[in-house]
Amino acid sequence: MQWLLVKTGNEYLQKLYQMKPNVIIDGKKVKRDDPRLQAVAQIMALTLDKVEDPEFKDLLNVESQKFGTISRFTNIHQSVDDLLKKQELTRKLCRETGGCVFRCMGIDAMNALSIITHRAEAMTGQPYNQRFLKYLDYWQENNIVGSCAQTDPKGNRALRPHEQADPDLYLRVVEHRDDGIVVRGAKNHITAAAVAEEIIVLPTRMLTPEEDQYAVAFAVPGDWDGVQLVTRASSHKRERFACPMGEFGDVENFIIFDDAFIPNDRVFLSGRKGEHALGGFAALLFALYHRHSYTGCKPASSEIILGFSALVSEYNGIEDKTHVQSKLADLISVSELVYAAGIAAAHKASKDESGTMIPDAVFCNVGRKHAGKSYYHELEILSDLAGGLPATLPHEEDFYDESIGPLLQKYIKRKEDVSSEDVYKLYRALSDILCSSIGGVTAVAGLHGGGSPQMEDIAILKGYDVELRKRIAKHLAGIPES
Ligand SMILES: Cc1cc2nc3c(=O)[nH]c(=O)nc-3n(C[C@H](O)[C@H](O)[C@H](O)COP(=O)(O)OP(=O)(O)OC[C@H]3O[C@@H](n4cnc5c(N)ncnc54)[C@H](O)[C@@H]3O)c2cc1C
Repeated sequence: MQWLLVKTGNEYLQKLYQMKPNVIIDGKKVKRDDPRLQAVAQIMALTLDKVEDPEFKDLLNVESQKFGTISRFTNIHQSVDDLLKKQELTRKLCRETGGCVFRCMGIDAMNALSIITHRAEAMTGQPYNQRFLKYLDYWQENNIVGSCAQTDPKGNRALRPHEQADPDLYLRVVEHRDDGIVVRGAKNHITAAAVAEEIIVLPTRMLTPEEDQYAVAFAVPGDWDGVQLVTRASSHKRERFACPMGEFGDVENFIIFDDAFIPNDRVFLSGRKGEHALGGFAALLFALYHRHSYTGCKPASSEIILGFSALVSEYNGIEDKTHVQSKLADLISVSELVYAAGIAAAHKASKDESGTMIPDAVFCNVGRKHAGKSYYHELEILSDLAGGLPATLPHEEDFYDESIGPLLQKYIKRKEDVSSEDVYKLYRALSDILCSSIGGVTAVAGLHGGGSPQMEDIAILKGYDVELRKRIAKHLAGIPES
């Protein structure tokens, strides 16, 4: 089929730079060409430019009946193969960036909406699915870079949304108009929103009948009136030598919706009477798709830690020691078991009435749980094998300084055949992973991204037949069924 999508990374960047300045960093409104946002913007651009790369072409491009070739990051999964390819694509792209690829949140939200709006339209008679399908056309035709804003500030965790002292601690509809809704509230921890063309907003949890006003789902351009993004940006920028790791960065956002008007054509759940159950289902579905995405990105971050663990052991002359080999095997086990869980989730997927494939919830959640639980252990292995130098490494300017540099280069030397500069570069990267601001962000994301560990336990137990296992135990122990 004809290649229709011509949006390049540069075209995306130019559009981004024209957006209204509603991003706030350190108390100042900044435009989206601010240097602190570029590391993540460049990764987004990379996902657009990879379409011609022979290694990514088959994974990144999908044939659509309507628009010819579209990006997989705008695709609604129709088959097991679609889910497998999204997982493989995510893993491969994360190897290139050394961290997140930032596009899964948007497409995970779109897949959840394809199901929710279908069900919501059938249940309520509101044209939610018709609106969504039009919006999906816009996404697919324009290869939209999106983010997903699900997580509310949540206030007192022991209280439900409608029990909070301030009802705005969960985002809600405060007014229904003929032409749309007005929303008030905030979403926090929203990755990459400051460099996204579109922000998709979804509810964060199961809701009760008193909580219809919180069952709201919609999409807005990132610079929409009434929307402000308070942004925390970090990068690994090098002073002296360029490298892929040095180009990586992160952008997290606290988004405020200050009585923002959302026109009907962008509203996919409007918080009307009886919609609370749909809101809760939307929350679960996004989390499910996102946990499946984690079975692609987490194996990549594990294998990056594995690669650095093996390399630092080689440079230090200990690679063949038994305790090192055992630790490398531990890292491989995490990476490949999480990946295997994602493959199993795809093979056990079911087709929803809307036509969208839903990955298996138990396999997605056990994979995500294993990844999250293991992340700090993986860092511990890397830290163990690297020794203390990632934390104490002299600055680049000293390492390359004419006067003191040669002495540092002499004393940093490990094995004879590895140059001092290579040792320095390796430890600089280890410092990024173990001791930097982004390293810390990545570790917390490894644990909490896609939901805190407890949420995964709840999803696993909900989808698993524990009673069957009790019956097996009774049978094996010779205990009669009562
Ligand atoms: C780097 C990073 C990127 C992220 N990106 C995104 C994103 O792009 N979009 C998005 O929507 N979200 C994103 N998230 C949010 C992520 O999904 C949440 O951090 C996660 O769901 C946990 O929510 P929380 O941070 O509010 O912590 P909490 O929910 O407050 O969890 C803290 C602890 O409290 C416990 N707890 C909470 N409520 C209860 C209760 N009622 N009873 C008992 N225990 C309770 C939890 O189990 C946990 O142990 C991101 C998070 C991080 C760290």
